Amino acid sequence: STASSFVVVANRLPVDRITTPGSDGDTWRRSPGGLVTALHPVLQAEAGTWIGWAGGEGPAPSPFTLDGMRLSPVPLDADELRNYYEGFSNATLWPLYHDAVEQPAFHRHWWKSYEQVNARFAERAAAEAAPNALVWVQDYQLQLVPAMLRRLRPDLRIGFFLHIPFPPTELFMQLPRRLDILRGLLGADVVGFQSPGAAQNFLRLTRQLLGLKPRAHIVEAEDGRPVRAESYPISIDTASVEQIAASDVVANRAKELRAELGDPKTIILGVDRLDYTKGIEQRLKAFRELLSNGELSVPDTVMVQVATPSRERIEHYRALRRTVEREVGRINGDFGRVGIPAVHYLHQSYSREELAALYLIADVMTVTPLRDGMNLVAKEYVASRLNNDGALVLSEFAGAAADLKQAFQVNPHDLDALKSVLVAAVRSPLDEQRRRMRAMRRYLRGHDVKHWARGFLTALGAPETATAYDS
Ligand code: UDP
Repeated sequence: STASSFVVVANRLPVDRITTPGSDGDTWRRSPGGLVTALHPVLQAEAGTWIGWAGGEGPAPSPFTLDGMRLSPVPLDADELRNYYEGFSNATLWPLYHDAVEQPAFHRHWWKSYEQVNARFAERAAAEAAPNALVWVQDYQLQLVPAMLRRLRPDLRIGFFLHIPFPPTELFMQLPRRLDILRGLLGADVVGFQSPGAAQNFLRLTRQLLGLKPRAHIVEAEDGRPVRAESYPISIDTASVEQIAASDVVANRAKELRAELGDPKTIILGVDRLDYTKGIEQRLKAFRELLSNGELSVPDTVMVQVATPSRERIEHYRALRRTVEREVGRINGDFGRVGIPAVHYLHQSYSREELAALYLIADVMTVTPLRDGMNLVAKEYVASRLNNDGALVLSEFAGAAADLKQAFQVNPHDLDALKSVLVAAVRSPLDEQRRRMRAMRRYLRGHDVKHWARGFLTALGAPETATAYDS
């Protein structure tokens, strides 16, 4: 096999399968995510390999090349999808790492599957990596890979980045197999987090669980290796988001959408995966009470809520869907008119262009998670506001709050606060909107996803990779 000096390991490959009727063999298209945008230049420059699941159950396709990246698909079978992915990753770790806003579930056969799948990814990485290569492991599905890979290949530089929050030690301590997870992460040379608080939680945990002695950002692991734990907040490809928002297609679509909504004075927008961490219920409740007490009214003000289908085989997600849809129905029943619903609820997935058009027509954007590692939607909204107007209502508990300081920030658990911030945003004068939006847009130009990747890779000791971004 072709050994690579730079290897990315992530649950998913950055591609979507295109099935063309009548043709055998798969064709693939690069998926639009920010992570691949950030890593593509490095993968190209270093003839790098990306290891991940290609979607689908059963045998995986052979490695192939797309846009100058070598892609190495890892198979997952139906049981592994249930146990490793939906089970331990998304019904144990996901809720626990998000402040246990829903009760984490745990089953020993989930853990067994998680271990088994992590071992498969580690073995693949060991096979693909050239001597002394740099391997960057992504996210909570693969926390055992750093230590497993180090055992197989002690010559490698190994980085790990956690895209979701890392919980306070009190919560992490509830996790069955907590020691295995912690030791798994300590197999890396650099463990990256979305916030300084998350890195601190991790370092404190090494003291509490293993009796290690973290100093500043470094802790000496049990084998004597220094491990760096630090915050590298991820971002968006700001230039490309701006470019999409500036296109004629999107501008025309925005006009069309605004007209279809009846050209209201104020459009309030929410765009989230339908996930219980996103605070969708809190947001709807605040909107309902504001309609009820007359501070907002239809048809002057309408809300558009995109709730992208997500993890639909997990019961917590089904229950959330029922609750959200009941609340939307209640609001529309109480405050809608014929042809003018108060909430336009869209349980669908949209392209970047359609989202950009929605961002352009949104006078107020609501991002109200109870806990979120970063929240890229908040950053995309800001970058899309080419006229510097519009107001972003942003939860303090999104990682993005540390970067978007000029947003209308709020504690979404406090319904009265949420209501008054929402009203303040709706009524905010244009000059105030511009002052806030300009500052945030400037920040995102300097702190885009390439800046993020460069920062992490430099810490991992790969100064030469920085040159991949020069062009
Ligand atoms: N997104 C999309 N289509 C949709 C909804 C969301 O392409 O219908 C994208 C959105 O533009 C953003 C990402 O999905 O880039 C969501 O990232 P975020 O950090 O906001 O939340 P996550 O879903 O990762 O928890």
